[in-house]
Amino acid sequence: MKEMILCKFGEIALKGLNKSTFESMLVKNVKRRIKDLGKFEISRAQSTLYVTPLDDSADIDEALERLKRVFGIVKLYKALETDKSMEQIISQSMDYLSSALDGAETFKVTAKRADKSFPLKSPEICARLGEKILEAFPHLSVDVHEPDVTVSVEIREKNAFVNAMKFEGAGGLPVGTGGRAILLLSGGIDSPVAGYMMAKRGVHIQAVHFEAPPYTSERARLKVEKLAEKISLYCGDVYFYCVPFTKIQVAIKDNCPEELFTIIMRRIMMEIAQRIAQQQRCQAIVTGESLGQVASQTMSAIACTDAACRIPVLRPCIGLDKSEIVKIAAHIDTFDTSVLPYEDCCTVFTPKHPKTRPTVAEVEAAQSGFDFEPLIKEAVENITGRMIRCGESTVNL
Ligand code: ATP
Ligand code: MG
Repeated sequence: MKEMILCKFGEIALKGLNKSTFESMLVKNVKRRIKDLGKFEISRAQSTLYVTPLDDSADIDEALERLKRVFGIVKLYKALETDKSMEQIISQSMDYLSSALDGAETFKVTAKRADKSFPLKSPEICARLGEKILEAFPHLSVDVHEPDVTVSVEIREKNAFVNAMKFEGAGGLPVGTGGRAILLLSGGIDSPVAGYMMAKRGVHIQAVHFEAPPYTSERARLKVEKLAEKISLYCGDVYFYCVPFTKIQVAIKDNCPEELFTIIMRRIMMEIAQRIAQQQRCQAIVTGESLGQVASQTMSAIACTDAACRIPVLRPCIGLDKSEIVKIAAHIDTFDTSVLPYEDCCTVFTPKHPKTRPTVAEVEAAQSGFDFEPLIKEAVENITGRMIRCGESTVNL
């Protein structure tokens, strides 16, 4: 008797000729995600991945929790493999069913026979197991239309499967199948959500954070590292880059019109992000911008930012309301960290009246009044970083 996890693929099943590439990437991601949890066998058949513990040291419950966050899986089941006789199916599944039916009031049993030589027909299998469940858990009743729990029994060639624990998966596409991108990660609510959303579409994410010491503190940076750790549960390993941005910000303040500070700062962030992208073979930049949220996120301001970009800028939050972004942030457990009150470099020299309708021409003219190149080079040379391994939790705030 052994418990195992069944993972159902989502959209991958539709990918035609690329299907095997997607499936291989998913298998790789699954292996990586549970490699420290003991010995598992991982096999796939018919758009399902079977994750089977090979010894008692393998932690199946923790594996299930982690696999719920692996993109490309839409549904998960914790199933039980039993010997292939009605007596064994019943006796071996009672412990399993006791946890599966915990909290339920109604259930039904369904059965399927791949092996037609099994002595009992499907309705008899259902009746026999149903009867035993009612005996063992007398508070339960049968509801064939809308049961709280469906217990399905499958008779295969070699053994039988009992399946009564179903969980929602993270959906999306396996990370790594959608290209590579640089996420501009601030300490706010929006950018971790943006990273999660693009990883969900299969994009491999590396995070870049701009800091402005001494205006921003060590704790402010740690907060962002904490956010990177949190999204790594979904995104997989995330490399975290930190760019020293103080000199550039001071130069903007001293040399550019105040009403354009923010927009010029954003263009230079984009420039630096693109240099990292080129070095890291990343094809796009991801930000947490949402249309109209602040002055630097109006249509005109976005046009000015994009004019400084040679690669696509992906803005998955662009059409979301703050409340919708907050809901996702709560779901991925970044919200509580994001609202910790540490300063962000964006707020260091915030203009009193930022221009909401800048034109590309005026911004370019304002920016060209000062040669930022040496400072950009210096900032890039002084980038620090570290690899954040998936699920790592080392930062304490
Ligand atoms: P967030 O909640 O993500 O901080 P925001 O509403 O505060 O967003 P802005 O501060 O205008 O918006 O930033 C817009 C986007 O620019 C952010 O979502 C993020 O992608 C990027 N960004 C802003 N500040 C930084 C920073 N210090 N380091 C890296 N990226 C940043
Ligand atoms: Mg911000």
